[in-house]
This record gives sequence, C-alpha cells and structure tokens, in this order.
Amino acid sequence: MQHFSPEELKDKVSTPMFQLIGQVADELGMECYVIGGYVRDLLMNRPSKDIDVVVKGSGIAIAEAVKARIGHGAHLSVFRNFGTAQLKWKGQEVEFVGARRESYTHDSRKPIVEDGTLEDDQNRRDFTINALAICLNHDRLGELVDPFGGVMDIEDGIIATPLDPDITFSDDPLRMMRCVRFATTLHFQIEEETFEALGRNRERLKIVSAERIIVELNKIMMSDQPSRGFVELQRSGLLELILPEVAALDVVETKNGRSHKNNFYHTLEVLDNVARLSDNLYLRWAALLHDIGKPLCKRWEPLVGWTFHNHNYLGAKLIPPLFRRLKLPLDERMKYVKKLVDLHMRPIAIADDIVTDSAVRRLLFEAGNDIDDLMTLCEADITSRNETKKRNFLNNFKLVRIKLKDIEEKDRIRNFQPPVDGEEIMHLFGLTPCREVGVLKTELKDGILDGKIPNEHDPALAFVIQRAKELFQLEVKETPAS
Ligand code: ATP
Ligand code: MG
Repeated sequence: MQHFSPEELKDKVSTPMFQLIGQVADELGMECYVIGGYVRDLLMNRPSKDIDVVVKGSGIAIAEAVKARIGHGAHLSVFRNFGTAQLKWKGQEVEFVGARRESYTHDSRKPIVEDGTLEDDQNRRDFTINALAICLNHDRLGELVDPFGGVMDIEDGIIATPLDPDITFSDDPLRMMRCVRFATTLHFQIEEETFEALGRNRERLKIVSAERIIVELNKIMMSDQPSRGFVELQRSGLLELILPEVAALDVVETKNGRSHKNNFYHTLEVLDNVARLSDNLYLRWAALLHDIGKPLCKRWEPLVGWTFHNHNYLGAKLIPPLFRRLKLPLDERMKYVKKLVDLHMRPIAIADDIVTDSAVRRLLFEAGNDIDDLMTLCEADITSRNETKKRNFLNNFKLVRIKLKDIEEKDRIRNFQPPVDGEEIMHLFGLTPCREVGVLKTELKDGILDGKIPNEHDPALAFVIQRAKELFQLEVKETPAS
C-alpha cells in the first residue's frame, strides 16, 4: 500500500468538493468526516466512485446547506426515512448521514438506529479496513481516525471485523458475503477469528435475501481470480447453503486404487481460465456450473473406471431451477448458460476424433452465435496436468476452429434457416400440416448438416421432392416457385 504522510492525506482531501463540505460543516459547528470504502480505496490508490460523509448531527441539514452553497449545478435527493441525503455534483456522488449507533434484533438485518458519535458509527462498520475516517473540518483537515488498526490491516492484506466477529456477522449476516467478496477482489486473507466466525454463523445467512447474496456473488464472479472466493465459501461452509450443487463437487472417490479428479477444484481452475479470457459474467457462470451434473451420474464401471455419462445434459437441466432460486435472470441469459453447459463436451468429442465437416456443421447449428463462447469454455476446460495430452487437445481445437470458420463461410450455418420451409413443402404437395411435413423438414435439415446437399434453395427443393417420392410416394401438385 502507498504510505501517505499527514500532509499528503490533507492534500488528498483538499478537492473543491471536500473543501466546501468542510467549510459548511465548520459553519454549522458539526464534526464531519469522509468514511468507509472511499477512504480505504484512497489509501490503496484504487479508483472509488461514491463518497460517504458522516457528521455529528443531521446529515440532511448539512447536505441541504452544501446544495444551497453550490446552487444550480448540484442535484440533491433527500431520504427522510433513512435520515440520509445524496448530492450529485460534477460527476461525483456524495452520501450524507448523521453518525449513528445501531442495535439489532435476531430475526432481521434491519437495525434499530439512534444518533451516536463517530466512534459508534465506526463500531457498526463491517471491517477494520472499512471503518477508517478522515476529518474534513478545517482545524483537523486530513486527520485519520483509525480506531481498529485498519491501516495496518490494509498493509498486511487482512480482512477482520472491528468488534467480535460473531456479533458483527450475526447482527447482519450479509457481512459474511461481503467478507469473502473483499478478500477476493482485494486479494486479502481473512483473519483467523473472523474466518472461524463465518463457519459458526453460516446458518444466519438464511435471513439474507437472495437478491443481496447474488450481488456479492456476482462481484466475486467478476473479480480477476474468482476461485479465491469460492475456496473461502467452501472452507467456511457457506457455499453449501448458497450453491450446494457446486459444493457437492468437492469429493474424490477411490476404487481399486483409481480415483477420479476433484471436480470442485477442476471447476475453479476452469472458472479462473475463463476469467482470464472474458469479462462476460454469464460465460463465467457457465464455467462455474459446467460440471454440476457429475455427482448425479457418477458410476464405477469395472472395465472403464469412473464415468460421468450425460453429465452435461443433467447439468443443463439443473440450470433453470438454480437460476430461479438464486434470483438470477430467467431470460436469454439463463438459456445461454443452459446451452453452454449442455454443449460443453461437444467440441472436445469432436477434437478427440477425426474432425469431420458434418460434426462441425452440427455443432455450429446447435451453438449458433454462442459458438465462440462455447469454444472459450471448452479450451478453459482442459486442465490436464499431462502436457502432451493438453497440447494434443489444444492443437485439435485449433483444427476445429479453422474448420468452424471454413464451414461458416461456405455454408452459413450459424443462424441456420432451412432454405425450404414447411409452408413451401405443404404448398408443393398440396398438404395441410401433418407428420409427413415434419419428417421432410428433418430430412432436409439433416441432409444439409451432413453435407449431402448444399445450404441453397434449388438443390434443397430437389432433395425434398426426391425424398417425398421415396418415403411417401408424394408427387408435386403445384409448380414450385424458384
Ligand atoms: P464497494 O463500494 O467497492 O462495494 P464499499 O466498502 O464502499 O465497497 P459500500 O456498500 O459502498 O461498500 O458501503 C460503504 C461503507 O458502508 C463500507 O465501507 C462500510 O463501512 C459500510 N457498510 C456497507 N455495508 C455494510 C454492512 N452490511 N455492515 C456494516 N457496514 C457496512
Ligand atoms: Mg462504496
């Protein structure tokens, strides 16, 4: 971490915004501090968006006075119920609040709030590194108030609660998720007592809404190395409550001296691999969930060893209920994850064999526009320690990619629409909707995907006419439009 002298800190909070706030606070005779995440990020030289200001007195009163001083350039929103006010000025957002003391009841994350001192306000914060405050009043401008050794914890890379972690976590169990999230995004270690309290209080997570949990989980997902978070969630027992499907992958069974790999750690490797290649949140979700079907179909087959037949299909079936439970979106993003989980073995199966045009065409047809993401997932999925094996796979993958490109250019399969559709078939033979039409459509699709006929109207029409005659003795009634 960067070391700042008191003078440098004073400089850091000498922006026009902070100067104005300090001046207004002095005039109102209020103690005034910038506090929390903003101070942490400032000391760590990280970019920070929102500024939290806490005063001894009314947060709304000072916000209104600051707004009056700026005039038209600023926008103020007041939340009387919460005793807070938010000021937007020059692209910055400042939240004003009076210093408060909080106490909790057992069944709710919502505290009973009373006016308090700065110390009370720091006591209610979640972590030592989030409890730092810098004074904005003129006489003490830049003075750091750090009652819990937050600066030291930033230097040492430690997440610890300011008070007894059992109380901090039990009061507001969302803090357990935030704990793992900060450890992940900042690459910090969770202090031992704090970590143990995660396990002891894990059941308290039940009073936290799925919406709040998923926000933290997605932040873990979007970090540069999400595995860090999932390892901590698993070690603390939280993962079992949130994502039992993933927690269940953490087993190794041995039979006749043969073990299968630990699919939890394999999954995390795949997730980190994908995270290195893509910022697409849902591609990362697909990576996390790609093997969740495995525990459902694991078998020991005497002549083969451990098998996981159909795990991709079974895994895909688990996606909709899982998304619903976690309050993840149920729209095309869910379908995308489901599809990737379902298809994640296909490129490997193709690469394992002679890469035929027809296999590639079928893959392209099923994956459509998600083909590139599917290939990314599949390459990330090759975590073998055997370098020769790995190289062979990756080389075959290159071949698959080249073929994909060739075939896409030649046949335009990606957004495949058969060149002769059901309407035309019915018209041609004077049919109403019936089984024969369906059969002919499938025949045509397979013919094109297998490369028997080109993906063009006239050859497709000739093929349909021929198959109709062979299969159903149907003759053309109408002259086909060409
Ligand atoms: P980021 O904005 O990067 O997510 P942050 O630390 O700024 O991190 P916010 O949610 O913006 O997090 O909250 C601002 C500050 O409010 C925190 O730094 C912390 O001091 C306090 N805080 C937020 N949520 C909690 C909570 N659940 N329990 C205790 N303190 C909290
Ligand atoms: Mg913040």
